[in-house]
Amino acid sequence: MNDAMNRPVTEVAGVGEETAKQLQGLRIYTVGDLLEHFPFRYEDYKLKDLHEVKHEERVTVNGAVQSEPTVRYFGKKKNRLSFRFLVNQILITVTFFNRAFLKSQISVGSELTITGKWDQHRMTITGSELHKGREEKEQTISPIYSVSGKLTTKGIHKFIYQAMNQYGSEIDDILPSEILHMYKLPSKKEALSRLHFPPNAESMKHARRRMVYEEFLLFQLKMQAFRKANRDHTNGRALQVPDYEISVFIDNLPFPLTGAQRRVVHEIITDIQSSYRMNRLLQGDVGSGKTVVAAICMYAVIRAGYQAALMVPTEILAEQHVQSLKGILEPYGIPVELLSGSVKGKKRAERLALLENGDLPLVVGTHALIQDDVKFHKLGLVVTDEQHRFGVEQRRVLRDKGENPDVLFMTATPIPRTLAISVFGDMDVSIIDEMPAGRKKIETYWAKPDMLERVLEFIEKELRAGRQAYVICPLIEESEKLDVQNAIDVHMILEQHYKGKWKVGLMHGRLHASEKEAVMESFSVNETQILVSTTVVEVGVNVPNATIMVIYDAERFGLAQLHQLRGRVGRGEAQSYCVLLADPKSEVGKERMKIMTETNDGFVLSERDLELRGPGDFFGAKQSGLPDFKVADVVHDYRALEVARQDAVKLVESAEFWTEKRYEGLRRYIEEKGVLNGQKID
Ligand code: ADP
Ligand code: MG
Repeated sequence: MNDAMNRPVTEVAGVGEETAKQLQGLRIYTVGDLLEHFPFRYEDYKLKDLHEVKHEERVTVNGAVQSEPTVRYFGKKKNRLSFRFLVNQILITVTFFNRAFLKSQISVGSELTITGKWDQHRMTITGSELHKGREEKEQTISPIYSVSGKLTTKGIHKFIYQAMNQYGSEIDDILPSEILHMYKLPSKKEALSRLHFPPNAESMKHARRRMVYEEFLLFQLKMQAFRKANRDHTNGRALQVPDYEISVFIDNLPFPLTGAQRRVVHEIITDIQSSYRMNRLLQGDVGSGKTVVAAICMYAVIRAGYQAALMVPTEILAEQHVQSLKGILEPYGIPVELLSGSVKGKKRAERLALLENGDLPLVVGTHALIQDDVKFHKLGLVVTDEQHRFGVEQRRVLRDKGENPDVLFMTATPIPRTLAISVFGDMDVSIIDEMPAGRKKIETYWAKPDMLERVLEFIEKELRAGRQAYVICPLIEESEKLDVQNAIDVHMILEQHYKGKWKVGLMHGRLHASEKEAVMESFSVNETQILVSTTVVEVGVNVPNATIMVIYDAERFGLAQLHQLRGRVGRGEAQSYCVLLADPKSEVGKERMKIMTETNDGFVLSERDLELRGPGDFFGAKQSGLPDFKVADVVHDYRALEVARQDAVKLVESAEFWTEKRYEGLRRYIEEKGVLNGQKID
């Protein structure tokens, strides 16, 4: 922003100290802040025919009063005024809240123009404005601002008008003219003016388009410049990975890799062999075989003389990974050990020592891995599994261990592309988009709770065929204790039901590590046939003989989580099933259940989930890492986001961007954000 925009807002005529204080409540400090305080909606004063108006839409109509207004009082301050009103042959009711004083302006037969919200079912307009006679304004679209304290929309509009008058000619364009031309975007000055003083809907749309693009481009430039800085920053360590040994290792796996697995292994190994510091996201749907990809890469790093660490979110998962990695790596003389909360005392001290002197090449663990006392001899690669469970901060701590290790983030959460490029724009991405051969679609059914009997019979049918079942218990927001209680209750009911026939296990977060281990062990060798569990089994657990999953109160889970849970079955050759026990009341809830029965594709699900819930809910608002855009909306403007990303990539890769004058504004923006000083965005 140039000088004019950085001036204190008090330099705008009419804005005194008192007003400035009020404006601070809206985080407006400078002229620029004021001009970028965009309307959150617009009032449309164009006269309309009620036939064209949708339910709950805002509208301005002209008509004649048909009844004397009546006023009802509720206490001292609250009241409701209403009267009958004829608009173009349609008789409706008009209601104003807490505006009893309007009564004197309303008399039977008089002509009025009313603006408000249309309720189609009740044939009522809840009014916000009233004018006598037929009033058709010249400027029919009028901005409405968020306000605070004593500020009003009118007042803010006046200050903005004044600011435009004083400083409008000094508004610089941060976007170079070639971009404005290419996309036929108005200049910044023009765009600001149209958004605050819209001449018509069409030109306002273009103005908005411009501001959306600018916001996205700046954001993406920041990301891409950071990514480039990260890439250019070598860790000075091009690992010598013996290709031949890797080939042998891959050939000795119990199955051939899928094409997609081969491709991503190649991408990752290329990064490891280069002197770049790898910062890569590996995305692959549940069951697509990410673990073996990680194993190959860790093997490569270890063969090159470095250590590797695998970090996972739960103890159960850590133990499973230790088991399967031991199976793959110990034949090559590579020891694998666990480091988690349950590894204590002498054992822990021993393992820490082995890590520090380099005798333990591979460690698998939970958060315990990022504690201060964990030191590595030569850490070359860090892999995190199900990375969305880790906070950004934890990821950073891990990345900073050792001497800039390469980092691979694995996730089965099929993040919609739109979000992935915003949240992970600073990473390279590898995608496994192919399932191992022979996998069958998991048949998914949605059953109402009163069909429980039949569901239990269905479980039994599978058990008789030698299969096993998961039963997942309701999720209670914010309360692990209640989750556990639910699991205990359901466990009791099922034990009763299947008494003498089948064994039912119980798993929840309150069990000790050793108890969990025993429960999992018993289930994986089919000593217990049914496992009742809270969502702790959600990620990564692998028991291929389990073919049926029942989820109680499925409507309480998000689609992404249901999909994760469902991924616990369908891991072997046999046909698998998932039953969602749910009685959702809302349309969205019903829609979710339907989508689950319709598709097995995690990416499709995630896109739908995003549409239904919005991005904040998708990761939980805190974790989303999405910046606050003023105008743009990641969900609705995702096409613009994609375009901006491509443009940002092109820009930072081009030599001109870093030298030519017309990019100065953009460059300064990136520098101000500290991207190039090696600072991290998170
Ligand atoms: P995820 O990507 O969900 O972590 P896993 O790595 O746990 O998936 O793999 C799921 C199952 O598929 C495991 O039992 C694994 O051994 C098996 N698997 C992985 N890759 C292949 C392959 N190329 N062919 C056959 N089975 C495979
Ligand atoms: Mg996995």
